[in-house]
Amino acid sequence: MRPALRKIISLEIMQGSGNRLPPAEGGAPGAELGTLLLLTRDAEAMEWAPRWLTFSGFSVATADSVDGVLEKAALQPRTLVIVDAAMPDVEHRKAYLRLRSQLREHTPILALCMNQRESREVRESGKADAVERPFQWDKIARFARREAEAAELRSKLEHTTRALKIARLNAADAERNLAEMRGIDSLTELPNRELFRSLLQRAISGAPAGETTGILVVGIDRFRQVNATVGHEAGNAIICQFAERLRNRLQDHDVVGGDAGTTLTAAGGRIGGVRFGLVLSRAGVDDLVRLRDAFQSDMEQPFEVNGQSVYLSATMGAALFPIDASNGDQLLECAEHAMCAAKDAGSSFRFFNKATDAAGRRALRIETMMRQALVNDELRLAYQPIMHREGPEVVAAEALLRWDHPVEGPISPAEFVPAAERSGLMVRIGDFVLREAVRQIRRWQDEGLPRIRVAVNLSLCQLADGNVVELVRELLARHDVEPELLELELSERGVLNQGPEIVAVVRELKELGVRISIDDFGSGNSAISYLKDLPVDVVKIDRSYVSGPGRSERDEAIGAGMVALAKRLDATVVAEGVENEAQLERVRDWGCDEVQGFHYSEAVTPARLASRLVMAGREPVRAAASRMRDRGRVPRLRTLSLPGTC
Ligand code: C2E
Ligand code: CA
Ligand code: CA
Repeated sequence: MRPALRKIISLEIMQGSGNRLPPAEGGAPGAELGTLLLLTRDAEAMEWAPRWLTFSGFSVATADSVDGVLEKAALQPRTLVIVDAAMPDVEHRKAYLRLRSQLREHTPILALCMNQRESREVRESGKADAVERPFQWDKIARFARREAEAAELRSKLEHTTRALKIARLNAADAERNLAEMRGIDSLTELPNRELFRSLLQRAISGAPAGETTGILVVGIDRFRQVNATVGHEAGNAIICQFAERLRNRLQDHDVVGGDAGTTLTAAGGRIGGVRFGLVLSRAGVDDLVRLRDAFQSDMEQPFEVNGQSVYLSATMGAALFPIDASNGDQLLECAEHAMCAAKDAGSSFRFFNKATDAAGRRALRIETMMRQALVNDELRLAYQPIMHREGPEVVAAEALLRWDHPVEGPISPAEFVPAAERSGLMVRIGDFVLREAVRQIRRWQDEGLPRIRVAVNLSLCQLADGNVVELVRELLARHDVEPELLELELSERGVLNQGPEIVAVVRELKELGVRISIDDFGSGNSAISYLKDLPVDVVKIDRSYVSGPGRSERDEAIGAGMVALAKRLDATVVAEGVENEAQLERVRDWGCDEVQGFHYSEAVTPARLASRLVMAGREPVRAAASRMRDRGRVPRLRTLSLPGTC
């Protein structure tokens, strides 16, 4: 309540004019304002509050405990709560404090105080409004009406703001999609990868027999670090400046003039995050070398952002048609492979070399197929249930990528995720996973299914890219999903121990209200000092301690120790990879709170998980709520039973 209103009420009440009867006729002034939830042991309040507040336009419901109020409030969209400031059976006797921490954010709470000391305490807490004995119900009713109207206005305003934000996001998406449909990258206005591929294919198809077509792929080095240092927007400005240099080179006659004085046809495109391609028709080795030298001298010039000069380097790979490949896509693949090989060897340039090709070929094929997978909608998410330690309740689900390639069949994420991370594609794939998972949470809620947490794996490149915080914020707003339902898993193996920039991004994510989970805990060969800097909600014990091959007594001791450590951090501890009853018993003995593994279920389709949730959800709400109360848990996130395995 605003301080001014608070003052008015206290003043009016101190004048103490006693209660009058509400007018017998005239009815409630205006429409139904919402529900008053009344929790009081005061006989006078029980008699007068319902009369005056019904007259003011509220429907009135009484409750006999804080849990009763919470249960009823969960079913009513608009509520106002009047509660005794102190209640004998509530922890520390302050009912309003417990209600404030668990009710919806804008629900007004009015505390009935027995004396001045009590009302001062309530006001100083800032958690509720206070009225003192003797209660003046006519004035309290007027106050309640004002508060309800203000809450209604606030909610309308929030709704409109959200709708506006969504409209803006949709418009931006539409603009981006339109540009991409035309084949133009919206940031640099260069051809995107698809258009570049077709330009390349056209150059090859149009080449007279005996003439070679050359391709050069250029990747800017260590761009993640650049983004982390100068920020995402300045990073984008650098990419645009680089694109400008590329455009200038394509028009530079000294570079594309051709050896025999003939002008070559040149085209360029942005073929990945910071990867660019250039195609030269009727070009030979010397032309490609000239282009490479021109780029190397371009990179010696600093990029200017925010008044700062940033010096960068690039790595390049080149290939020639028809010597190295028989079509455009293969040629692009060859040049990209040459670029990766140059990077691995610590050099700045390499021609494609068939002899050294074998090792990287599969990874490169996967990378190429994966680009198509995104366009052709071949990626899906499956959800592996995570159970309460005593079972059989599903408390959460982990979203796991599934890729069923039309020709190659299913390809494991253990193979394609690292390939996507190497190529920078994982940022787009990771965005897809986040979008899909948050949309799925909304769909399950729209289907009336009880709410469970959904865990999503994040890759290091997503955290380093600089966009993930904004994306998560947008998605939660767009789909109206409570942040605490989204859990972000960061692997100890690849993501953590990466320095202060990554810790800062994790903290920003945490500030959005999402839960942070440490994945593969105990698997990194690194110190766990990151734990002191990170806000951790969940720790997932790596499955090598639970069901890994060659487990020893030492693993047992380390497993138990890790659980004890995680508990000291107040984290929920999940055991991964539980495959049988014996392992389940063991992780229970260690003190794990939740378990995940083939013993219960592998990852299943969203529909399959939903049907299990529906079966379990048939249990009446009241029974589930009281069972949870018995265990000392309040039924905010309801858990569900999963009979047998999925
Ligand atoms: P992870 O995050 O540790 O995921 C758990 C993996 O363990 C999953 O393999 C799951 O199917 C498997 N698993 C679950 N229960 C058991 C069990 O009882 N026994 C055994 N042996 N394995 C079990 P999956 O789906 O093949 O994923 C492998 C890895 O790929 C994941 O390991 C994660 O690192 C990565 N991954 C999967 N989806 C994504 C994603 O959307 N984003 C990112 N960044 N990485 C992903
Ligand atoms: Ca995981
Ligand atoms: Ca894991």
